[in-house]
Amino acid sequence: MQQKVLALKKVRNALLLAHNYQPMEIQEVADFVGDSLQLAKKSAEVSGYDMIIFAGVKFMAEMAAVLNEKTPVYIPATDAICPLAAWVSADKVRALKEEYPDAPVVVYVNTTAETKSVSDVICTSGNAVKVVSGLGVARVLFGPDKNLADYVRRQTGVELIDLEPRGHCYVHQQFDIAQITLLREEYPEAVVIVHPECPEEVQDAADIVGSTGAMVKIVAESPDETFVIATELGLVEQLQAKHPDKKIIPAYDRAVCRQMKKNSLEKVLRVLEERPKENLVEVPEEMIGHIQEILERMSQAPDARFAEASASD
Ligand code: SF4
Repeated sequence: MQQKVLALKKVRNALLLAHNYQPMEIQEVADFVGDSLQLAKKSAEVSGYDMIIFAGVKFMAEMAAVLNEKTPVYIPATDAICPLAAWVSADKVRALKEEYPDAPVVVYVNTTAETKSVSDVICTSGNAVKVVSGLGVARVLFGPDKNLADYVRRQTGVELIDLEPRGHCYVHQQFDIAQITLLREEYPEAVVIVHPECPEEVQDAADIVGSTGAMVKIVAESPDETFVIATELGLVEQLQAKHPDKKIIPAYDRAVCRQMKKNSLEKVLRVLEERPKENLVEVPEEMIGHIQEILERMSQAPDARFAEASASD
């Protein structure tokens, strides 16, 4: 099946982008694998393709469609929807904006295009601290991830009002201190890296809090040989495949994002063969300009330039 995908990709002149949490069978045949922002950036840069197949969840494919209006973007699984993104609707943002008219709305990239279209700035887990502090204001509306909000609050001292105090990623919410403590006993030499979507006490128990992009960089560049990684298993598998000489231990071996895993090689192949209309990702015309504008605003935050922001979900 991988050979078929590779051959048909050429025939269709298609670019296959895959998120770090995708099944390895897709990552292995993708043209580029990365976090959501790296993939968005790649979508914006490329030209000359007749189609982009985005193996990830829907909000990520929407970003690709916003940033590359010329190339049709397809998602293999139309029901791959990030539950974290579902926590904050555009209506909720509008209502809180009325309540706090002076507070800019910073939304995590894990939001729908509709929610982004009524927000003021976008951030990723890799640049959220810089984006929020770069605004130079005392109070910000922020969401939907409450754990990322805790992290940014502690790093910046800015008052963050949660767009949704319960907002969380069910995959990262599962990590707990007991798992980290046991693994530290078993592997005292390990460097523990935890995603900022994990609960605050798990972040406190880590050596490093970092996004998936940061995890990739640290494992590649560090002289350390053993790492405990608290994020989705797809990234742990990718890191182990890339670094067979190092020991990459999942902090929890059931941390699987079911939505990400709705994509499969069969579905990628079907999109290549049939280019089904229902798999085409479309963002309403009237939202595109505003989302492009607030992405640009994110890029203007000091040290958070779009081209350098290498870390997100
Ligand atoms: S891992 Fe969490 S934040 Fe990422 S796509 Fe899955 S549910 Fe959403």
